[in-house]
Amino acid sequence: MSAQPADGGRVVIVTGGSRGLGAGIVRSYLDSGDLVATCARSITPEVEAWMADPATADRFLWGSADLAKAEDADAFVKAVIAKWGRVDVLINNAGVARDGIHSMFSDDDIDTVVDLNIKGTLYVSRAVSRRMLARRSGHIVNISSIVGLSGYRGLATYSATKAALDGLTRALSRELGSRGIVVNGIAPGYLKTEMSHGLDADQLQQIVRRTPAGRLGDPEDIARVCQFLTDPKGGYLTGQVIVVDGGLTS
Ligand code: NAP
Repeated sequence: MSAQPADGGRVVIVTGGSRGLGAGIVRSYLDSGDLVATCARSITPEVEAWMADPATADRFLWGSADLAKAEDADAFVKAVIAKWGRVDVLINNAGVARDGIHSMFSDDDIDTVVDLNIKGTLYVSRAVSRRMLARRSGHIVNISSIVGLSGYRGLATYSATKAALDGLTRALSRELGSRGIVVNGIAPGYLKTEMSHGLDADQLQQIVRRTPAGRLGDPEDIARVCQFLTDPKGGYLTGQVIVVDGGLTS
């Protein structure tokens, strides 16, 4: 028997919430009183702190999972359902980048990026949307990237996977819309996380110079838009990919 949430808090899944953008999104939903589950391959001090803090321990669920494996994705979603009985919000955030000239890219690098960014997202979305369909409600947000729209030299495979997620957003919004499920995407610009450490100081300086907001993005900039797109009262904005990049691509 699952323990149903006692109050009106939403049940939120954020994939890859152990650090970086995902951790910022987890924090934001915990701050708004929701019940939040996240997973990644390895645990971090942030995750340990949420598990230990009396203010969040009862509202936080950690799962160790490699989402590139369908069985891990299914087991994680099952654990959330077993604990809280439903999923109201899914934020497909887990993602990985490998850079390099495409003509020299290894099979391993292609598989790593495609298996998590596309297949992992498809696995989790399949398991969660099945439950959302039964309840005829839910919000899904896919985190893609501006490079899925504009491309970036040295990021061909990553850009291709992010463009694929934008296609998934549009297709799922059509497939699930009549059953009360809202699906949108966010295409962030460059953020201050571990993933952008692959860019050298010159590249980062150039990005900041070209960004009207005059800075890189923070996880909070994206978390705020996640909250907007998953507002329980919001149902008419669906099938869209919202660019949040400080104006870089405007
Ligand atoms: P990050 O700091 O590298 O964090 C990635 C998260 O995904 C971590 O929790 C990581 O934990 C998890 N993860 C990686 N491989 C996984 C796997 N196989 N199974 C389960 N979890 C896995 O990246 P980030 O910068 O926060 O990026 C988050 C999302 O934003 C990604 O989708 C990224 O493409 C997108 N994005 C980032 C930027 C940017 O500038 N940083 C810009 C646009 C879009 P483990 O490694 O322990 O598994």
